[in-house]
Amino acid sequence: MNPVNTIPATLIPGDGIGPEIVDATLAALDALGAPFAWDTQVAGLGGVKAAGDPLPAATLESIRRTRLALKGPLETPSGGGYRSSNVRLREEFQLYANVRPARTLIPGGRFDDIDLLVVRENLEGLYIGHEHYVPIGNDPHAVGMATGINTREGCRRILKYAFDTAVATGRKKVTLVHKANIMKVLTGLFLETGQQLYAEHYQGKFELDAVIVDACAMKLVLNPWQFDMLVTTNLFGDILSDLVAGLVGGLGMAPGANIGTDAAIFEAVHGSAPDIAGKGIANPIAIMLAAALMLEHVKRPELAQRLRTAIDQTLNIDKVRTGDLGGSANTAAFTNALVARIRNGG
Ligand code: NAD
Repeated sequence: MNPVNTIPATLIPGDGIGPEIVDATLAALDALGAPFAWDTQVAGLGGVKAAGDPLPAATLESIRRTRLALKGPLETPSGGGYRSSNVRLREEFQLYANVRPARTLIPGGRFDDIDLLVVRENLEGLYIGHEHYVPIGNDPHAVGMATGINTREGCRRILKYAFDTAVATGRKKVTLVHKANIMKVLTGLFLETGQQLYAEHYQGKFELDAVIVDACAMKLVLNPWQFDMLVTTNLFGDILSDLVAGLVGGLGMAPGANIGTDAAIFEAVHGSAPDIAGKGIANPIAIMLAAALMLEHVKRPELAQRLRTAIDQTLNIDKVRTGDLGGSANTAAFTNALVARIRNGG
């Protein structure tokens, strides 16, 4: 590795299948000669065991220094009053954009040729967790209440990020997903800000349309090819990005990037999969694709492309696939085949 090219980055193997799929990804990155100098840290259950905190100070310090991380899935311990480490990381580093691309990797299925980008606002909306009960009579939990907050500034920031990404990546159409017919204030502000920003700065650069979230879910299942890029608020983005992952083979194929002003953190969309942890059978593709997004982020798109090509060849020429994709390979067999493809110029 050329030391001039070495880019400091934080590595959080994570919980459950995390260490298994992160190891597989490191093998692939190594074969590519990727330029990362890793600082390995713990979080989630691993953080609680090692430092009594799901997000230890040393982990935060590392990300503050590197501004770049690859993160395995984290479990939030139930009990003990811990907040989700993922939500804390988003807040700490103002990771306002959650970017989730979905592409068909195995042709011939129900949804061929999908190439969709979901951009989700990551810090506001109904996801902020401002919730409480209102007692009535003897029932302390008679009413449950949640507050959603969207700010014009927060909407503008995510919409500008999404529109700039559309221009930079040549997307033809951007669809604003909202529920402004019912939540006129909360998601009306998002819709109105998007339409205004487009009219002011982006007209002619791509087509802009808008769709109500429930109709969007139906249209995605009936005809996903009518969409190119979806931009939406936090909760709708959370739900729709899992739906879109399902179109391309499930959670094992879905990477995510959390982009902010202070750092960028790359991860798989899926969780720690405790049901298969330790068995060596997890599909590592989602986090490998997250590593590809990370390579693009540090301006090494040629390495990202080599990684994606090698994944494609391993799946479709070698037909080496893990169980969730209907194959019989374990994580190690898939990784070995992938590394061989990379070394042979894949
Ligand atoms: P999950 O995504 O871990 O698992 C859902 C199902 O998908 C399981 O059957 C699992 O075996 C399967 N699956 C997931 N990833 C797979 C892979 N790479 N290969 C093969 N199969 C895979 O969701 P869950 O069970 O609801 O959550 C488990 C834990 O993960 C929870 O503690 C949750 O809070 C956490 N979680 C973390 C993140 C994150 O860190 N970004 C995201 C989601 C959930």
